[in-house]
Amino acid sequence: MYDDTIHILQLSHLKDKIEHIEVRAEKQSLEVMILLKRSIVMCPKCESKFIRFHSYSYRKIIHSISTGQPCILKFHQRKYQCKVCSRVFNEDNPFTTKHANISHYTRLSILNYLKDFNHTFTDTAALFHLSIQRVIDIFDQAVDARRRSLPEVICIDEVYTNKMNKYKYACVLLDFKASKVIDVISTRHKNYLIQYFSRIPKAEKDEVKVFVMDMWDSYREAVQLTFPKAMIAIDSFHIIRTLNDVIRNIRIRTQNKYRLHKSSPEHDDMYYYMLKKFHYFLVKNYENIYDGKIRIAKYNMYWHKSEILDYLLSIDDDLKSAYRLKERYREFNLTAEYDTCDDELNALIYAFRNHSLVELRVFGKTLEKWKIEIQNSFLAFNKRRVSNGPIESTNSKIKTIIKTANGIRKFTRFRNRVMFAINKDIPIQNK
Ligand SMILES: [Zn+2]
Repeated sequence: MYDDTIHILQLSHLKDKIEHIEVRAEKQSLEVMILLKRSIVMCPKCESKFIRFHSYSYRKIIHSISTGQPCILKFHQRKYQCKVCSRVFNEDNPFTTKHANISHYTRLSILNYLKDFNHTFTDTAALFHLSIQRVIDIFDQAVDARRRSLPEVICIDEVYTNKMNKYKYACVLLDFKASKVIDVISTRHKNYLIQYFSRIPKAEKDEVKVFVMDMWDSYREAVQLTFPKAMIAIDSFHIIRTLNDVIRNIRIRTQNKYRLHKSSPEHDDMYYYMLKKFHYFLVKNYENIYDGKIRIAKYNMYWHKSEILDYLLSIDDDLKSAYRLKERYREFNLTAEYDTCDDELNALIYAFRNHSLVELRVFGKTLEKWKIEIQNSFLAFNKRRVSNGPIESTNSKIKTIIKTANGIRKFTRFRNRVMFAINKDIPIQNK
């Protein structure tokens, strides 16, 4: 007869055990009086079956079935007494664990809600009518994420953690294929990483084929030392970004040469204007630039992108040759293959190292230093070239968690939060 009520209250699994249930709408909350059917019990102390009813007690249990208003179960719990040893004990409580006052259902709903990385402890507390600390306690007790076992391809990168941590940057390990967080390590310091990796069993480490990283010496040294069998690949987007920064600096230097200024040796206002206004032409992929007529506001002209690029490159020979060399590298990065990239990479390194501009010579040195790792960046798994792409999207989720991180002050909690909300398959501990 109470079937609907029981169903609405998410207590269907206890249907056969409920003797009486009654819902009362109070001013601020919903109260549910519950009495369970009397069952055969045994004394927990002497195991005797000679038991008598002793008394009732009320237990208030928070049971958030609706987010509109708090709902409280008032469980009419029996106390029994053993006729043999006089021990007084409680009837079983199927709604929650021994000393808790939050129902299993509420606890699971809260944890489920926290699986979304956008949801903060504060939001959750408001939604479930609990204190923030209470939500944090529930989370801390339920989630203790373990490091995932190491996959074939690992992406390694850092994330800025600010107040979360005594170190500025934490280190994130990601499974390239499954896009799952393997672990979040509190620092990216080399010695710490070496210690961390050294503790992982050798057999597990031997299965790792590739580490993908930015051009960061500490990562390379730590991985070379602790994963002698793994290859290291540089994220190719990272190289292109580095190269674009170099081009940007050359462009700014060139542009400022032509700034209208009394002390400038040469000045041509249009050179300055065009380099500044169409700065992106030098770093953006040409095919991605708008293909129609582009307005040049100051001169009230409409030019096609090819005319603009030609104009920009006509301004300065150094800038032009830097741009051409960058485009040659970009082409190489897009089209080369692992087995055959050696010659062109050597030729590129030579061209950069012997360029007239010092910035490009420095970049050439970097290419040389990371040559093997650049070659390895052409490795592919299931036809997918290795990269740190997956970690970039993960890091943006992590940044959201950090940005809205009221109540995350402990690194372990932060780490659990990240793994719980990003991996979605972290088991909930029943304590
Ligand atoms: Zn007893």
